[in-house]
Amino acid sequence: MASLFETPIGALRGVGEKRAKLFEKLGAPTAGDLLRTYPRGYEDLSHPIPIRSAVPGEPCAVRAVVVRGPAAVRTHGGIMLTRASADDGETVFPVSFFNNPYVANTLREGEEYIFYGKVTTNFLKREMVVPEYFPAAACPAIRPVYHTTQGLTNNMIGQAVRQALALLPAVVRDPIPDRLRGERGLMPLYQALHEIHFPSSMEQLEAARQRLIFEELLVLQAGLLLIGSRKRGETQLVAPRDYTDEFWDLLPFSPTRAQRRAVREAADDMARGTPMNRLIQGDVGSGKTAVAAALCWQAARNGLQAALMAPTELLARQHFETLSALFAGTDAEPVLLTGSTPKRERRDILAALEDGTALVAVGTHALLSEEVEFSRLGLAVTDEQHRFGVAQRAALAAKGGAPHLLVMSATPIPRTLALMIYGDLDLSVLDELPPGRTPVLTYAIPSDKRERAFGFLRRHAAEGRQCYIVCPMIDEGDDDRASVTQYAARLREGSLRGLSIGELHGRMKPAEKEDVMRRFAAGAIDVLVSTTVVEVGVDVPNAAVMMIENAERYGLSQLHQLRGRVGRGKAQSYCILVTDAQNGEALARMKVLCATNDGFRVADEDLRLRGPGDFFGSRQHGLPQLRIADMNENLALLREAQDAARSILRLDPTLSLPSHRGLRGQIHLMFQHSAAN
Ligand code: ADP
Ligand code: MG
Repeated sequence: MASLFETPIGALRGVGEKRAKLFEKLGAPTAGDLLRTYPRGYEDLSHPIPIRSAVPGEPCAVRAVVVRGPAAVRTHGGIMLTRASADDGETVFPVSFFNNPYVANTLREGEEYIFYGKVTTNFLKREMVVPEYFPAAACPAIRPVYHTTQGLTNNMIGQAVRQALALLPAVVRDPIPDRLRGERGLMPLYQALHEIHFPSSMEQLEAARQRLIFEELLVLQAGLLLIGSRKRGETQLVAPRDYTDEFWDLLPFSPTRAQRRAVREAADDMARGTPMNRLIQGDVGSGKTAVAAALCWQAARNGLQAALMAPTELLARQHFETLSALFAGTDAEPVLLTGSTPKRERRDILAALEDGTALVAVGTHALLSEEVEFSRLGLAVTDEQHRFGVAQRAALAAKGGAPHLLVMSATPIPRTLALMIYGDLDLSVLDELPPGRTPVLTYAIPSDKRERAFGFLRRHAAEGRQCYIVCPMIDEGDDDRASVTQYAARLREGSLRGLSIGELHGRMKPAEKEDVMRRFAAGAIDVLVSTTVVEVGVDVPNAAVMMIENAERYGLSQLHQLRGRVGRGKAQSYCILVTDAQNGEALARMKVLCATNDGFRVADEDLRLRGPGDFFGSRQHGLPQLRIADMNENLALLREAQDAARSILRLDPTLSLPSHRGLRGQIHLMFQHSAAN
């Protein structure tokens, strides 16, 4: 099976370069991925019924002989209508097709077919409009229905899958160890892959599904345990002396009780010989950066290196500046490493990290690149951890001997889920905001009140306050530049004429972004028009209004994150959600935001409105995407899979036994694909 993941999809017959691109788009760049791209549904052709018993509007299969062959006519509207008559033994009924010249060649008088589609009634007469049809003699019992894309039909996918199946060796290495599979009475992988794509019966299909679901959950849980298992090891990298009070003296404000507590808990962990594995959950604005800085200081003063990794360049730079200011003139002065660090500077930084002269490194996932070597990495911090894949987190941890690991997140996850996802991660909660904050007032308005909102922005700008506007996206594509530029241009000429309006979008070079943010932070820009790039972590305390266009397009947690960009200073701040949405779910989201500023409540509501399955689907957690298991339906099974994974790893902690090779290979595949974004 493993080698099929090295067989490019283009190696299959009938898959040329162009079609290969389409398969890639569907998530199947290799034959192996294709086999793991399961159908989204099935058409059951195994139990045809007479058309008289069909429920109108619901798809069904009807077996019938064509009694009058297809004839084509052109309608007044210019559509080619092809009609034939079929007899199911009880009823003679019409079947019709539009603009389909192939019907005339493939539907033959006197032959028997299975017609599949919806039955409609027309003046008490039943008919089938654009059904699919298969010669009865050669009709599959159950037909897979795949997600398709323009230019790639269901049949093309089915044919490619058949070929990929034919490439499967008869004995495939099974990710579920034989013993476990026997105990649970699960279908072998080879058979399951055949049955999931081309089921021989509904019963076999169900058995295949159950097996593949269990497999996926087992691989997920075993992978997570494997990543987390380092906790049981030991580390020489201890920070026994307490320098936290020294750090609080460096800080320009006094820490909240919650910050003190979190730092205390983590510093205690770091003083021990077992590596820390701690999650800091704190709502937006709760001051996670200061906690991270305190622990970097604690590491550095104990002679250990610390790395702080952020998901975006913008955020990495901001952290770098914060830490630079705090640690100026000390050994702990940080270095910054990102994708756009110039070559020469980069070389110097790499050398300083390798020989240990640089104690604190701030950066993006550039820190993970292979050339980066630390001399004594004692602490690895990832900020906004939900933006990273678990695998990336593990990669940072793997940079040193066994560094202490701290992950910080503003996305509160309900405890039960957190335990299932992170297993043995310890938790510190920042449940307190720094003093002097006034809660952000949130309002939802329809778009015809937008002009009034602009007036509101003007008044704030006149008082020296600043505003963000998250502008609507022109299309869902990745070109957000046009959206921002056009929107800003309209404001400059129209409602916000005379104000200084800045732009921020994903297509800008890091240096340009940085320049805009610096000018915004310095107050030279009144209104910053941007896309959701301002979502994570950006910190400008003087900003007092956040206006979000098309607010219905964003999830609750994302809106809460965006709102968190304001309300960071002393002034009363506002969040204006512009939406014309009418549907209940979107309105419910707006209502939650208007009612509370509490991120934990927002997260709970989010989970309640969307369900855990959706929560998993949205990848907020940085976990690999699941292909067949569903967290809504399979929660109980997840627990069983976790138990099974535990016993496997107890027996064979590194999965090196031959019987576990299949599992290890599949973990590798799953987590390799899990890199964030
Ligand atoms: P987040 O938890 O969202 O990452 P930040 O670390 O960006 O929050 O902190 C938000 C703002 O609050 C920053 O401007 C920071 O300087 C300020 N801040 C953090 N802790 C305190 C504190 N104890 N007292 C006053 N201001 C604080
Ligand atoms: Mg932050």
